[in-house]
Amino acid sequence: MSKTVPAERLRAAVAAGLDLLGENRVQEAAAKVPEVPGARWHLVGPLQSNKARRAVELFDAIETVDSVDLAVRLDRIVGELRPGTRFPVLLQVNVDRDPAKAGLDPEAVAWALERIGELTRLEVRGLMTIGRLVAEPEAARPTFRALRRLGERLRRSGLPLGPELSMGMTDDFEVAVEEGATIVRIGRAIFGERPAG
Ligand SMILES: *Cc1c(COP(=O)(O)O)cnc(C)c1O
Repeated sequence: MSKTVPAERLRAAVAAGLDLLGENRVQEAAAKVPEVPGARWHLVGPLQSNKARRAVELFDAIETVDSVDLAVRLDRIVGELRPGTRFPVLLQVNVDRDPAKAGLDPEAVAWALERIGELTRLEVRGLMTIGRLVAEPEAARPTFRALRRLGERLRRSGLPLGPELSMGMTDDFEVAVEEGATIVRIGRAIFGERPAG
């Protein structure tokens, strides 16, 4: 997770072997992507529909698709900007049904995936969740386990869902890996504390 980290430090990180960077704002990414060659970029923040086009231009994948409407819009834009390709997305799931968080309700994912799965220019590579803020990493385990099990159920029922599970951050990524994370989003443990505010 490279948000708030200046391009110069990111270039050093890429030179040291880090090749996947995550940003949560389209605006910030627009400034940094051209300055940091050789990296792949994932959007892991909320995407407003008026920034969808810019996001498809900038990012290699969008991890925060949380509605059928957004997926339909992205599918159309990919057709315009990257015809003949399939754009990788993850569906963001609000596993804990936290009213302060974005993401599909776990009960709604199957329904959404049926529709999004029909879009020919998106490839749903997997699921993503942002866990609750917890005091102990262990307390995040039920959230991660629930996301993994949800993915397993959806694939078993024949829905077109790839294997990725994006979950875990600096404070709880070990637990996330134990529960099957394939993408961990680590910011502070790599780049240090972010500036306040
Ligand atoms: C900032 C951020 C992270 C990284 O958090 P750290 O605690 O710095 O590892 C992970 N996921 C999302 C969605 C973020 O916005």
